[in-house]
Amino acid sequence: MSERVRSIQYGNTTFHYQVRRRRGRETLELTVDQAGGITVTAPGGTSDERIAATVRSKAPWIMAQWRRQARLLPPPPGRRFVSGESIAYLGRTYQFRVRKLDVRQVSMSMQAGTIEFRVPKRCSDRAQRTECRQLLVSWLRERTALHGQRACGRICRKLGLEPVDVAVRDIGRRWGSCTPSGRVLLHWKAVLAPMPLFEYVCAHEVCHILHRDHSAAFRRALDRALPEWRDLAARLESRGYRYDL
Ligand SMILES: [Zn+2]
Repeated sequence: MSERVRSIQYGNTTFHYQVRRRRGRETLELTVDQAGGITVTAPGGTSDERIAATVRSKAPWIMAQWRRQARLLPPPPGRRFVSGESIAYLGRTYQFRVRKLDVRQVSMSMQAGTIEFRVPKRCSDRAQRTECRQLLVSWLRERTALHGQRACGRICRKLGLEPVDVAVRDIGRRWGSCTPSGRVLLHWKAVLAPMPLFEYVCAHEVCHILHRDHSAAFRRALDRALPEWRDLAARLESRGYRYDL
């Protein structure tokens, strides 16, 4: 079993997709998850070219799924941290499971699509919300740092820049920021967005190392870094408020 993220270009849009090869599987299946993420599950020996051709042939259908999703009303942020709630982490849904146990402090673990919080039996609703949220935010900080470093690294290579320093901060309503010394700051909630939107946030800030403004030169740099950035910027603008706790 192997899982890899690939991409193809179709018109102005880059389609990122995850490939899962499964021995014993006979047919090729393409799915779009709730956050717009694309997964191709293929028989073990299927070539990359065959998979890319399938994604390309399905591109109009994928875009129709994205449009349909955009019309659905998203869940409002403001979670209470109770069982049944969920977050989307980089486009994958994780459902909360809260267990009241004979423990002294709140702890958190993750497995296949579930985030489990273990909470002391006598914990009040308010303390449960605060403490579960703190644990989740600290985990999101780590993930944003890790994925931010990787994504910014990829973009720097594309633009011929030295690798950039990335730090995670609570920067209010902004997704990212670029300091005068050329350091990229990312909000910890950025990984709640699907990977393509997360990449756009990183690309935007890395391009600010080259151009401090949003001038035509800045936009040309973004064209080189992430050709589909206009589409991603529009998606972040319209759906960004979903990606919060
Ligand atoms: Zn900017």
